[in-house]
Amino acid sequence: MIAGVETGGTKVVCGIAHRDAPGEPLEVRRFPTTTPEETTARIDAYFAEVGEPLEALGVASFGPVNVEPDRPRYGWVTSTPKRGWQDTDLLGRIPLAARVPHVVLSDVVAAALGEHRHGAAADARTTAYATVGTGIGAGLVVHDMPVHGNGFPELGHLLVRRHPKDGFAGTCPYHGDCLEGLASGPAVLARWGVDSSSIPADRRAEAHEILGSYLAQLVGVVLMTIGADRMVMGGGVLKAPGLLDEVRRQVPRLDAGYTLRDGASEPGAVARLVVPPALEDAGLVGALTAAADLPA
Ligand SMILES: [Zn+2]
Repeated sequence: MIAGVETGGTKVVCGIAHRDAPGEPLEVRRFPTTTPEETTARIDAYFAEVGEPLEALGVASFGPVNVEPDRPRYGWVTSTPKRGWQDTDLLGRIPLAARVPHVVLSDVVAAALGEHRHGAAADARTTAYATVGTGIGAGLVVHDMPVHGNGFPELGHLLVRRHPKDGFAGTCPYHGDCLEGLASGPAVLARWGVDSSSIPADRRAEAHEILGSYLAQLVGVVLMTIGADRMVMGGGVLKAPGLLDEVRRQVPRLDAGYTLRDGASEPGAVARLVVPPALEDAGLVGALTAAADLPA
């Protein structure tokens, strides 16, 4: 059996799986993310309680987290805004990691890997995953390999072309009107006074056009950089009914036939390219998948 844990900003999800079936987590347990001490003690207690010999561990963490094994402070959560977690040796606080081969990924890269192997992109060669919520995070899997480094990718902070009807300054403390500054949950709240699912009917079409134009630019970038054949898009902002369809509508309009050729810009093809997530615990599945990939 192999072990996985996803430490999210608000909750932790732990699970185990057979090494040959990381897409089917067993004994899944969830609890809130509190202090590093309390949270890692509960993770440790979980692995002790499952009572199975565990032979590998995958850790998916909110970031920024150091995922490069040959760098100092591997497995540390570094400059996070989450209170109490700055410069925390997450991996070092999980005793199982000292006993078995282990791997650390960021939560979005793990979610991308989970959806790529076992979810909405299981038939894709190259997958991009984005979650649009409190922030915008993205993960990439190219020809079955996660693309990541210390804090990367950072596609949430893509500098986007402004929609002509959008005069909003943006909420990113670094860039103002980057993608996250214009299309994350806080940006929606600051601009329209409500969350994306509660925008009044008389303002919804314009709001969706504006948000859709920014999110479609993210799709355009992954098409032009990694040639993704699946873009999985989720998160709280995209729960607004109709918003994902608006993104799908704008992708071929912005692409203008440049990368989407031979029928790839048809509505049906775009609906297969840009899809919602399929897994409930994509981050956990990704952590288990990465653990299963470790040499036995
Ligand atoms: Zn930014």
